[in-house]
Amino acid sequence: MINFQYVRANDVADAVRHIATDPTAKFIAGGTNLIDLMKDDVERPSRLIDISRLPLNTVEETTDGGLRIGALVPNSDLAYHPLVQSRYPLLTSAILAGASQQLRNMASTGGNLLQRTRCAYFYDTATPCNKRTPGSGCSAINGLNRIHAILGTSEACIATHPSDMCVALAALDATVHVTGPDGERTIMFADFHRLPGDTPQRDTNLRPNEIITAIALPAPRFVTNYSYLKIRDRLSYAFALVSIAAALELEGGTIADARLALGGVAHKPWRDTGAEAALRGQPANQATFTRAADLLLRDAKGFEHNAFKIDLARRGIARTLTQAANGTPQSQADKKVR
Ligand SMILES: Cc1cc2nc3c(=O)[nH]c(=O)nc-3n(C[C@H](O)[C@H](O)[C@H](O)COP(=O)(O)OP(=O)(O)OC[C@H]3O[C@@H](n4cnc5c(N)ncnc54)[C@H](O)[C@@H]3O)c2cc1C
Ligand code: SF4
Repeated sequence: MINFQYVRANDVADAVRHIATDPTAKFIAGGTNLIDLMKDDVERPSRLIDISRLPLNTVEETTDGGLRIGALVPNSDLAYHPLVQSRYPLLTSAILAGASQQLRNMASTGGNLLQRTRCAYFYDTATPCNKRTPGSGCSAINGLNRIHAILGTSEACIATHPSDMCVALAALDATVHVTGPDGERTIMFADFHRLPGDTPQRDTNLRPNEIITAIALPAPRFVTNYSYLKIRDRLSYAFALVSIAAALELEGGTIADARLALGGVAHKPWRDTGAEAALRGQPANQATFTRAADLLLRDAKGFEHNAFKIDLARRGIARTLTQAANGTPQSQADKKVR
């Protein structure tokens, strides 16, 4: 681990001033990902700008009936916040599927969006990795790629985004509020994370001199018929092989509206509005769910060790939609699989 300077930001403007004047500096919030990356020599910031004490740690109702979640709200506080539990239970379920209670106590909302991939080669500086060292090659394409992506991959990178929370935020139409030297702007969640293309070193469309200040959610929907299913090697404290956020609005047995997003399968939370459209107006049954899964996975491509994910995702989508339709979401609290 290298030597670095440390400075604590006094307010958002101060944080932006610091990052704008030093392109090699990094913000630190909970530190649960950044410190690991620094220990492994993957990140080598000259300066850490501590934003953990900025007043961005509240969850507030907005005038349009939605929620504004400060970027520094810890993942645990967000999951157990009464307004989130009662109005956005899909989000609670997804957050509680991630990491461990101790990590969720430290991890911030903004940091969760910006956590880096769990591709082992990215963390191993002895191996080529286009995301860590652009142009060096991708060790995973012909290497150990069991946890890697099946959708939206490129010849430069097949990594996945590892977040659970972000899958629910994608399904719920969140927006990301950021501030930079030119002022504030809002980024639709679907546009926040990027596909790897030929620039896998860029995970998101956040500019290097910007800070995330908040995540906003629109007025609540999908409070009854939702489910977040996370399929992983262990039932706890493991990243998703495939995860699915499904939410339905039902009128009788017919799907009036639907949301469907996947984690663990792509470089970004993978929401497919085409598959959602295919669910609308259809009966909530296995044939409809399987058709939507096939549509979502139409362009899926497996590699040597991860082709199993395609069928896993197909069956997982059908099961999650069934749980959502039945109003029996996967329980993240008692880990029972219903
Ligand atoms: C062992 C382990 C298991 C885990 N399992 C899971 C899991 O199953 N599911 C899951 O979703 N997550 C999991 N995580 C990831 C964890 O949720 C993230 O590490 C955490 O959310 C990151 O938040 P942080 O505040 O600690 O970020 P930091 O480590 O402080 O920062 C991460 C990055 O975000 C930047 N940053 C932070 N806040 C801001 C901001 N407001 N504006 C701009 N930049 C910012 C930092 O500069 C840094 O680049 C796991 C982590 C560990 C260590
Ligand atoms: S998949 Fe991406 S992160 Fe992993 S080795 Fe290839 S370029 Fe690096």
